Amino acid sequence: MSGAAAGFDAALALLTTPWGLGLVGLCVGSFLNVVIHRLPRRLERQWRRESAELLGLGAAAAGTDPADEGEGLARPRSRCPACRTPIRWQHNLPLIGWLVLRGRCAACRAPISLRYPLVEAACGLLFAAVAWRFGGQPVALAWCAFVAVLLALAGIDWDTTLLPDDLTLPLLWGGLLAALAGWTLPLASAVWGAVAGYLSLWTVYWGFKLLTGKEGMGHGDFKLLAALGAWLGPAMIVPIVLAASVIGAFVGILMKVGDSLREGRYVPFGPFLALAGIAVMLAGPPRVLDWLGWS
Ligand SMILES: [Zn+2]
Repeated sequence: MSGAAAGFDAALALLTTPWGLGLVGLCVGSFLNVVIHRLPRRLERQWRRESAELLGLGAAAAGTDPADEGEGLARPRSRCPACRTPIRWQHNLPLIGWLVLRGRCAACRAPISLRYPLVEAACGLLFAAVAWRFGGQPVALAWCAFVAVLLALAGIDWDTTLLPDDLTLPLLWGGLLAALAGWTLPLASAVWGAVAGYLSLWTVYWGFKLLTGKEGMGHGDFKLLAALGAWLGPAMIVPIVLAASVIGAFVGILMKVGDSLREGRYVPFGPFLALAGIAVMLAGPPRVLDWLGWS
């Protein structure tokens, strides 16, 4: 083995230990908080601009705040949503920043949502779990990307009931490429998984629409399940939908009972599909089939 290849293997082994990937996960989780907050706002500005152009109206009709126009995913630096004071780097450290500030803005003392440290902790723990399952192999990094995109989609769908194509489509292509690279499934399984994922929810959607005249879910759900099929294979589609439906119904009932579901709003399906996909990945498809007695 050449020196460079040995060096790469050593670096990969060090990075893909549970502690190594857990620390990376905390930092990635911190970035996911920004994506969950900023990506839907950016898409909304884009839609408003495009609709105004389509209607032949000026830029003013788009109704976007010029102060937000320059906002990308990485820039400007994070600000307190209440007082707009930029957040100092030491207060932006994942988990530690929130704990040091005890959940309040350093400048105006406005409370900072508990969700920020929770997303960071979840991402750190899930990356550590990926390391424990796939440590030392390059595929560990691919599964970390899978987890990160799913967490972002779950957060955005929860907030806005939208699953942006900007995330679902790269996740789908990523699954097909991971199969092509020989890291996950045979390529044919990945393609069939994507087809089965898309068509199963598409069929449910049209069946429901024909029977009730209502739309029970969004097209983003089809694309998300197609992506999960590309990563996990066609045999995992039914277990994922079953698990997501059971957990989703349970959470929906809890929210109705607790009166935290606003009138006219529904519980989005995407977050539960995403969580079921992560659970199936960590358990491993053979074990899932074994649990269901289908192996
Ligand atoms: Zn503040």
